[in-house]
Amino acid sequence: SLSDRLGGVFDRLRGRGALTEADVRTAMREVRVALLEADVALPVARAFVERATEKAIGQDVLRSVTPGQQVVKIVHDELVEMLGPDTAELDLNKTPPAVVMLVGLQGSGKTTTTAKLAKMLRGKENKKVLMASLDVNRPAAQEQLATLGTQTEVATLPIVEGQQPVDIAKRALQSAKLQGHDVLMLDTAGRLHVDQALMDEMKAVADVANPAEILLVVDSLTGQDAVNVAERFSEQVPLTGVILTRMDGDARGGAALSMREVTGKPIKFAGMGEKLDAIEPFHPKRVAGRILGMGDVVSLVEKAAASIEQEDAERMAERLAKGKFDMNDLRAQLAQMRKMGGLGALAGMIPGLKKAQAAMASGAVDEKLLLRMDAMISSMTPEERAKPALMNAKRKRRVANGSGTTVQELNRLMKMHQEMATAMKKMKKMGGIKGMMAMLG
Ligand code: GDP
Ligand code: MG
Repeated sequence: SLSDRLGGVFDRLRGRGALTEADVRTAMREVRVALLEADVALPVARAFVERATEKAIGQDVLRSVTPGQQVVKIVHDELVEMLGPDTAELDLNKTPPAVVMLVGLQGSGKTTTTAKLAKMLRGKENKKVLMASLDVNRPAAQEQLATLGTQTEVATLPIVEGQQPVDIAKRALQSAKLQGHDVLMLDTAGRLHVDQALMDEMKAVADVANPAEILLVVDSLTGQDAVNVAERFSEQVPLTGVILTRMDGDARGGAALSMREVTGKPIKFAGMGEKLDAIEPFHPKRVAGRILGMGDVVSLVEKAAASIEQEDAERMAERLAKGKFDMNDLRAQLAQMRKMGGLGALAGMIPGLKKAQAAMASGAVDEKLLLRMDAMISSMTPEERAKPALMNAKRKRRVANGSGTTVQELNRLMKMHQEMATAMKKMKKMGGIKGMMAMLG
């Protein structure tokens, strides 16, 4: 992936004392290749590398950070700029109903995203929302939205067989006005490929509905195709923003990076899964961080702060800043994992934690396992907890017996601790959480 690739490039740079022009150019060549491999459009990759190289070579090497960190920062800032402004919001300041229209290819996630946004607006912002499907091409498309409406407790426009998109849009507007809805969401039809008939239909609907937002929904996994689609749509339909779906998948860098450049419109949201609350505002800094393989430190910190006591958080931050991580820390982490819904969510966010996850892959990571791990740590003496290196064979047998587990299990726990401690040291080398946060801006 792009993340791994760039991670590799900068790991090597980080080990260097000083950066020469040749170093920068070598690194940037790899950045360019990585971008292309991640399906970033060629002109976009080229422009990116040019700008970043110019900035990197012209700069003095700062004393306070390593040259590698400096280049990472430059590339990071450039990525953020390219990805667009911070967390764009929906602009619904219109005489109600404010119309939000979703357009895009078939299967890109329009219908799902319509329901996600509706649910979000209803829940968080307490809006009265009506959804209407204008998809008369795909059999059962309108029923799909009706089902999602039931699931999200959002009203949907009653289906009238045989009605065409423009007429459905008119009826939806009428109905939303009459029933006092704040927002009308229009889920439109897609095609397998962009064609003029689809564009004409979108334009006709937009003319009638005068939307506050016209959001292009694109599948981030389709890479270069997504970029071509975005180009075609933005030429013909007055888009106000982009939503990238399947950002929970692998190819999250490429499409995001090109999209902004090609459409000139902000990416407003990211679809993070099939569930109806799996949608997030698009955070350029976080995505840039992910692309660079630094781990999603900002969301990690936010998530941790939300679920642990402030004191614990401060203590943890202090220890992480020192690169320390003993069994007490591991135990605190395990407790958090239980609260946050498993290791999976956490593991992707800290560089190096993926390994820890792999180390545990032999057993299913569930509530019970986390509790057994907690039991093992409880059976250790305070000295052993503070200094896990003390754990010799004899002590291990004692702890296994005491906790009703086995030495093998304990060894897995020790290995996991080791991996996490290493990851923390790595983070410290990169300036600790604070340094990484500063890097993220
Ligand atoms: P439409 O044809 O554009 O209306 O696409 P749909 O909304 O019907 O979505 C097609 C498929 O993609 C469905 O199975 C959705 O559950 C899935 N999907 C939509 N958004 C996401 C996302 O952000 N992540 C994942 N993993 N799946 C998604
Ligand atoms: Mg649909």
